[in-house]
Amino acid sequence: MNEQPGGPYPDLPYPDLMDRVVNLAKRRGFIFPSAEIYGGFRSTYDYGPLGVLMLRNVKDAWWRAMVQLRDDVVGIDAAILSSPKIWEASGHLANFTDPLVDCRHCHERWRADKIEGSCPNCGSTDLTEPRAFNLMFKTYAGPVEEDATVAYLRPETAQGMFVNFMNVLTTTRKKPPFGIAQVGKSFRNEITPQNFVFRTREFEQMEMEYFVPPDEADTWFHYWLDERMAWYLGLGIPEGKLRLRHHEADELSHYSAGTADVEFHFPWGWDELEGIANRTDFDLKAHAEHSGERLEYFDQASGERYVPYVIEPAAGATRTMMAFLLAAYDEDEIGGERRTVLHLDPRLAPYQAAVLPLSKNDALVPLSREVLGLLQPVAVCDFDVTQSIGRRYRRQDEVGTPYCVTVDFESLEDRAVTVRDRDTTEQVRVPIDRVAEELAGRLRR
Ligand code: ATP
Repeated sequence: MNEQPGGPYPDLPYPDLMDRVVNLAKRRGFIFPSAEIYGGFRSTYDYGPLGVLMLRNVKDAWWRAMVQLRDDVVGIDAAILSSPKIWEASGHLANFTDPLVDCRHCHERWRADKIEGSCPNCGSTDLTEPRAFNLMFKTYAGPVEEDATVAYLRPETAQGMFVNFMNVLTTTRKKPPFGIAQVGKSFRNEITPQNFVFRTREFEQMEMEYFVPPDEADTWFHYWLDERMAWYLGLGIPEGKLRLRHHEADELSHYSAGTADVEFHFPWGWDELEGIANRTDFDLKAHAEHSGERLEYFDQASGERYVPYVIEPAAGATRTMMAFLLAAYDEDEIGGERRTVLHLDPRLAPYQAAVLPLSKNDALVPLSREVLGLLQPVAVCDFDVTQSIGRRYRRQDEVGTPYCVTVDFESLEDRAVTVRDRDTTEQVRVPIDRVAEELAGRLRR
């Protein structure tokens, strides 16, 4: 975590951007503190009606780029509850630790590498020596709590790809270079979860393991750095808020021959969105050794047998969603009235369209429902009838809905509706018979 000189967001008029986004997320049903009626539960969060739509869009956009639009990557969905043997082989049981210190004065516990010699709670410098704290959640599979039934919640999705390497290879007939992608929950018993959903104990990851001939590893590492940067930029993160940071040699994980982080300029400074690593043949070799299975590729054409190297782009879905919200947040003035607007890419916005009858009039509502029925197959739609039309536009702008479709009294005569653009507020009249096509065209990229 590096502080940016000049303070957070020197180019924006919102020094309290984080608070504004957290408030908006709560107020409009993106993200709620979990178990709120019981006072919350240890920095866990629930995704509300709009949050679940947006988070799904983030994951879909990733899947589309990483799997659908390629012929060299396939997906899997591996179990969250997993055997200790996996974590022994991967090195997580021994190495997946953070340095924990206790403050002897107020008894708070901290991650030693995230504080600067004094307790952030009380300021005391009377801290214990750091000790290794394993971040994996341990539980028991089955009704008996004994050593033989110990299981772990996965702290990353990656190992699911490594242990299924041969299954995927034989069932898909892929050959290196090829990848296995997975999106799903991971769990880490973080010492200090913080910054809203940036660091939580339960979160979602989007990871891909790309298996390559060892002598091509460096080329593919750089290929994926470019691809992943382009993904964030293409979905609307401004260039000035995104950067690539290469790890120093002493910062590299035990398995890595090279790592770079995609970093976003968060309100507290530059911080990681995604890690891209050359994991070498570490994982496949470790699992081969521990399982006694051969985990290698046999190239029939050349008669060559080898253990592929792995390039891994590992991103966080929940953390990335937060970055998209921060980057999209804006306040401006339209027709002398202030509004809050999320300039979200339409592919990420919870709703792509809102159908709004001008009033609750008996004749307008049925026609509006007809329009809604036409649009629902091409876009996720909201339908809102209460309050003035201006207020309803503001409500849609605030959650990033790119298009509002208004049904007014003229619509009864000319069977046309008004389509309003969120960013320009420009309005065009479109015949009802063509509105689905018009919207699909605007949303298609
Ligand atoms: P850190 O050093 O910040 O603890 P890391 O480098 O160990 O994280 P990775 O193991 O590379 O993280 O995980 C890949 C991605 O998963 C991260 O870039 C991040 O987007 C996401 N991620 C990791 N831990 C968390 C968490 N506790 N909460 C939310 N997202 C997380």
